Amino acid sequence: MPPDLGPEDFDELQRLPITNRDQSCAFCGGDRPRFVHPLARDRIAFRVFGKGWTLPTFWTVCDQCEASIEGGNDAKLRSRMTDRGTDEELAQASLTAFRAADLGPSTLIDAVE
Ligand SMILES: [Zn+2]
Repeated sequence: MPPDLGPEDFDELQRLPITNRDQSCAFCGGDRPRFVHPLARDRIAFRVFGKGWTLPTFWTVCDQCEASIEGGNDAKLRSRMTDRGTDEELAQASLTAFRAADLGPSTLIDAVE
């Protein structure tokens, strides 16, 4: 279990967060993401620049980025990633891999301090 998270925050069996405590949006880095997208384990590996990469087994996503995922607005998602310093080619490859592996969103419980 990630540090500082209790059993009410993280499902050990599924390896998925239940609440948004200590999570941030995988695209823009925003706090308190509202959704979690589990990814198909057999589809999270991809190659960029001849190097192998592996995505996390889930991505947490904020409201705004979720709307871009649903709306198919990959340009906006890519620009949010590159704004945070992710290399353009890596952002594109990650996004393509995410799209292929995405098992669909579930809602996270808002962690109240
Ligand atoms: Zn976001």
